[in-house]
Amino acid sequence: MGSKNTFDVINPYDQSVITQVPDMKMEETRLAVDQAEQAFTSWSQTPARERAALLKKFGELILQNQQDLATLLTCEQGKPITEARGEIKYGASFIEWFAEEAPRVYGDIIPGSNKNQRLFALKQPVGVVAAITPWNFPNAMIARKVAPALAAGCTVVIKPAEDTPLSALALAVLAEEAGIPKGVFNVITTTDPVSVGKELTTNPKVSKLSFTGSTEVGKVLMEQCAGTVKKLSLELGGNAPFIVFDDADLPAAVEGVIASKYRNSGQTCICANRLYVQEDIYKDFMELLTQKVSQLEVGSGLNEKTTIGPLINAEAISKVNHLVEDAVAKGAEVMLGGAPSHDLFYQPTVMGNINRDMAISQAEIFGPVMPVTSFRQEQEVIAKANDTIYGLAAYFYGRDYARIWRVAEALEFGIVGVNTGLVSAAEAPFGGVKQSGFGREGSKYGIDEYVNIKYVCMDLGSQVSDL
Ligand code: ADP
Repeated sequence: MGSKNTFDVINPYDQSVITQVPDMKMEETRLAVDQAEQAFTSWSQTPARERAALLKKFGELILQNQQDLATLLTCEQGKPITEARGEIKYGASFIEWFAEEAPRVYGDIIPGSNKNQRLFALKQPVGVVAAITPWNFPNAMIARKVAPALAAGCTVVIKPAEDTPLSALALAVLAEEAGIPKGVFNVITTTDPVSVGKELTTNPKVSKLSFTGSTEVGKVLMEQCAGTVKKLSLELGGNAPFIVFDDADLPAAVEGVIASKYRNSGQTCICANRLYVQEDIYKDFMELLTQKVSQLEVGSGLNEKTTIGPLINAEAISKVNHLVEDAVAKGAEVMLGGAPSHDLFYQPTVMGNINRDMAISQAEIFGPVMPVTSFRQEQEVIAKANDTIYGLAAYFYGRDYARIWRVAEALEFGIVGVNTGLVSAAEAPFGGVKQSGFGREGSKYGIDEYVNIKYVCMDLGSQVSDL
């Protein structure tokens, strides 16, 4: 599907124009939904093993094109090429996982209380799915939604973020090459997310919205979906605490912080956003941390050695800068970095002496800045960790096994990393609680987001008792 109008895709590294893509509006969105609806009839009736084979092929093609997809991703998003390759592999792992899940969408036979009746629960695809995705994982966020949707028998209309439409289009090309039928996988590139979003959330032919993005936009979309009572999955903002207890393996904990905080230049929804270090190890830990952070390699994502790329756009730089300046004005101590560097780069930063009055302790930072606070006791730090409207991911390091269980159970988050800063995997359920949203992506639970349960009650009349 095309459009007469186009918009520029910008490389955040040097702000050069990579190419132009179609700037689609409401009308094209409606057409895409119509196509998805038409394709749904045959796709949903295609035997699950055939859908699985097509998905498997799709996943293989993604892996065969890993380097090109990664280069494209780095050019439009800025992340280091090593991370981009990781993202492509991670995205493909969802396609592979759900290709395997497709033939295993079992229903149930339910023992009834009436001897003449037989009760069944069938799982059926919900229909046309709208997927609205962010720019921080331009490939994997789409793969995580499309894989379970297509496996279940749904068709999709994807609206990628305006900063990163190319990875979405590349996936559409590979889906077609894999033999996934026309109309099953549709992409709407646009600079007007508001009107395209409005169409996707109000069109009665769309049965479900899966959204990853900010809590603010998630709430708007949820409200818009109310008119047609769509099924929803919302993966929204986070404010992840990262706790280091005094019995932790300190070098491992520092590695965990680096992986969780500085990956993707701090632009993931599960990035450590607040670091709490127990008082008696605070000094040693901070020394180790600042030393490691100072070794990060800032530069072009296409350079194999780079570990920190640019932020996505000028707005992102000014948001991070504002949060740091506010914290400094309220007494935060800058231990490393603390300012924009050049173009869209922000210096890898570590800050101490953080308190709750600073906006940085409540906001999702989305930049390479780690605010740190010390704490005395377990209960105190759990209360602080839970003191947020968000509930996506939390992390802690420590060795005491009883405390590990106590803390893992007490943290009000959908995902908890214990002695690790990296938690994502296709086989694991990813998702939040509180205002971080609901619904799970990945794992055996992931496909449930894309099916309805139909209860069938069959009355056999007197024929059973006649036997
Ligand atoms: P982020 O802060 O990560 O950019 P957003 O929630 O603003 O998060 O964006 C995530 C996705 O939501 C993007 O694809 C963006 O285009 C889209 N989006 C933003 N506003 C709206 C809206 N009003 N309706 C539909 N989609 C929107």
